[in-house]
Amino acid sequence: MTAQEIRQQFLDFFKDKEHKIVPSAPMVLKNDPTLMFVNAGMVPFKEYFLGQKKVTDSRVADTQKCLRVSGKHNDLEEVGMDTYHHTMFEMLGNWSFGDYFKKEAIAWAWELLTEVYKIDKNSMYVTVFEGDKSENLDFDQDAYDYWKKIVPEDRILNGNKKDNFWEMGAQGPCGPCSEIHVDIRSAEEKAKVDGKTLVNMDHPQVIEIWNLVFMEFNRKADGSLEKLPNQHVDTGMGFERLCMVIQGVQSNYDTDVFTPIIREIETIANSKYNASDKKEDVAIRVIADHIRAVAFAIADGQLPSNNGAGYVIRRILRRAIRYGFTFLNQKDAFIYRLVDVLSKHMSGSFPEIKAQKQLIENVIKEEELSFLRTLDQGLNLLDTIISNNKSPKISGKKVFELKDTYGFPEDLTDLILRENGLSYNEEEFTSELEKQKERGRKATAVETDDWQILIEDDEEEFIGYDTLEATVKITRYRKVSSKKDGDMYQLVFNITPFYPEGGGQVGDKGYLEDPNGDTIYIVDTKKENNLIIHFAKSLPKDPSHLFTIKVDEKQRFRTECNHTATHLLHQALRTILGTHVEQKGSAVHSKYLRFDFSHFSKVTNEQLQEIEDFVNARIQGKLPLNEHRNIPMQTAIDNGAMALFGEKYGDTVRMIQFGKSMELCGGTHVENTSDIWHFKITSESAIASGVRRVEAITSDAVKDYYANQDQEYSEVKSALKNAQNPVKAIEQIQNENIALKKQIEQLLKDKASNLKESLKSEIQEINGINFIAKKIDLEQNNIKDLAFELGNEIENLFFFVATAPAKDKAMLTCYIAKNLVEEKELNAGQVVRELGKLIHGGGGGQPFFATAGGKSPGGIPKVLERVKSYIE
Ligand code: ATP
Ligand code: MG
Repeated sequence: MTAQEIRQQFLDFFKDKEHKIVPSAPMVLKNDPTLMFVNAGMVPFKEYFLGQKKVTDSRVADTQKCLRVSGKHNDLEEVGMDTYHHTMFEMLGNWSFGDYFKKEAIAWAWELLTEVYKIDKNSMYVTVFEGDKSENLDFDQDAYDYWKKIVPEDRILNGNKKDNFWEMGAQGPCGPCSEIHVDIRSAEEKAKVDGKTLVNMDHPQVIEIWNLVFMEFNRKADGSLEKLPNQHVDTGMGFERLCMVIQGVQSNYDTDVFTPIIREIETIANSKYNASDKKEDVAIRVIADHIRAVAFAIADGQLPSNNGAGYVIRRILRRAIRYGFTFLNQKDAFIYRLVDVLSKHMSGSFPEIKAQKQLIENVIKEEELSFLRTLDQGLNLLDTIISNNKSPKISGKKVFELKDTYGFPEDLTDLILRENGLSYNEEEFTSELEKQKERGRKATAVETDDWQILIEDDEEEFIGYDTLEATVKITRYRKVSSKKDGDMYQLVFNITPFYPEGGGQVGDKGYLEDPNGDTIYIVDTKKENNLIIHFAKSLPKDPSHLFTIKVDEKQRFRTECNHTATHLLHQALRTILGTHVEQKGSAVHSKYLRFDFSHFSKVTNEQLQEIEDFVNARIQGKLPLNEHRNIPMQTAIDNGAMALFGEKYGDTVRMIQFGKSMELCGGTHVENTSDIWHFKITSESAIASGVRRVEAITSDAVKDYYANQDQEYSEVKSALKNAQNPVKAIEQIQNENIALKKQIEQLLKDKASNLKESLKSEIQEINGINFIAKKIDLEQNNIKDLAFELGNEIENLFFFVATAPAKDKAMLTCYIAKNLVEEKELNAGQVVRELGKLIHGGGGGQPFFATAGGKSPGGIPKVLERVKSYIE
């Protein structure tokens, strides 16, 4: 069975069991303050488990792109070392939201594995939660009883809290789980060691493939557990591991999910993959794995960058580059060349890679080139460190510095040091690293209290498309403390007109007023697990009151102008530059808008003008807002609306239309494009290879912009004595300047040659040396020329000059003919060094020419007096 078939059979099986099949949500999470990436199949459904969203389909199944490289689930260091942990992998899952529970989940899992996939019953073990005294949790008797009906008792094993009690995070829904493990060892080995003893022992051939989680608790901030109102099922099966078992191979990398990529790496690196623990093979696994994670992240809209999720992606890619560099001898960019096979083999289920192939290749290549340069720099630095080093152990601080400042990884440093018979102080390194982490933790640590629930309310209705004001009740609130923001309160209302940050648009600000007229400002609005959270610095005296809440109208309006203009800009870019333009991110603020998009060259000034004109024409065209709420996704697409990659859409969507601009969008917009008044592009730049950024302003901001320009213009005019034609006036000044410069240059030349002649006449002969020492007034570079010219014309010259270019600056120059240097053992460097002290400075140079600088021109007479002593 091919991977493609295995995936399809899973979905078909659960479709038969009345599950709704949904597509994978994007792997990169946007606007989720608690998590950067989807790390388990349940993440896109969090709000259902938390009871914060009404369940529309109580049975769902899918394959979900997951990434485990940060936070609670981080497998990065394992990847490539073993054969069954990936950074990015697909998790097949079936869900019950308050519908079926343990009985069906267990029976169906077994049916699928044994009857559809025909996995040998005698190769599998299942585990059940053994209970935990400290948490007051009992043995999972129900799960045990259901398993006992289909699996021999000696294949049902007990598992502890670590393996068999699943938790989403430090807080939130959780519950006992039952895992299914498969023993893929040979019959011979099975006879030697009982498989039972290898379950959950990190054995590469006795591995967990499926975890059935029975969500029934909620973990609170104080660590205690409470029962959830409903019971849910959340299962997750590693797709690549399942393929390994069904395809009868010993490693995920030997399945057809990975072999095409590995063949390509073999060709590029001219190296054979032997599935061993050798560094070359580890490197091939690392690269085959990481290219998937990086390509999918970019397709989902997450470019590598210097912070947050972008930095995580950068680190994954760099890990792959480094393994290629060190163990496969790849000194040039090569990973981007794998995107082609990846796209061929994955696009059946994930069209996003194929659609954005060129962009993904460009971005990866650019990252590779820049990191290879970093590696090069690091290697040079390391060379210097090694050659200056006196002990066999390099300081850990240095190694940390290389990592921290130059991105040069410590294991590579270690490798190179070893090759040179050296090592480094690992303790010192670790302690530096810890110190840095601690600083980071302190800066970002957030303490979140439990929600105080005032009213049970399953969904908070957003009414902000139609009104900016409402009378509301607080349904829940909690305190959140961090070093950065101090104490903040998060308030949730039964209904709200406040738009929560999302789709690029900033969250609304505004205020809340109680019946006594006391107001509390709402400083930001965000969405978390489907709750619209309002941030306030304090809490109302009596939170159970009825409140009037009001959105800051002015800010909202300006933001709306920018949001609508963003749509028009998007339309303009696709019309003028071409339909290869894909939105890669946007930021819609009240003061400006920013739009990132794929395009492979600089947008010319003429094009920018055309784009601006295009948008302004639509503003002048007075296009009314045409809003379609809750229309089926397919209807919107059929109408020509654009869906963005990396965006999560529901079955029904909202479509925003202004003339021919049609976008799926949850943001807020002006009633009519004429509200925007005017659109002005303020900058165009590159943010990554193949990704451009345009920044622009609208409405009042344009008025301010032109007012500023006007002001500057009048200042320029008045500086030009109110010339009739300022441009001409400036040109005239520039021309005059050029002429004057020429004159000055000629004058200086004449001066130098006059000087030379007069100096010649002042030369004294002392002990066979033609000597002159004098204070003159000339530019330093002219002095050097003068010295060498004189030296050419006059034999045995000792030429010493002092200048005082400023009140607190003195310069000394000494020229000594080369033959004198040898015959009389004279040294210009020594002369200026010693005499430099008299002008409170220092200097040096070569024996035949040297200069010194100091800050006391007052010392010059004494210097000139002393020079003679060197030749007498
Ligand atoms: P393991 O102990 O093997 O790391 P886990 O306990 O972390 O697994 P779960 O969080 O229960 O795994 O995830 C559900 C399923 O997803 C697992 O049974 C496994 O098949 C798969 N899985 C988990 N982590 C990875 C990974 N890093 N790469 C590939 N598949 C994974
Ligand atoms: Mg794990």
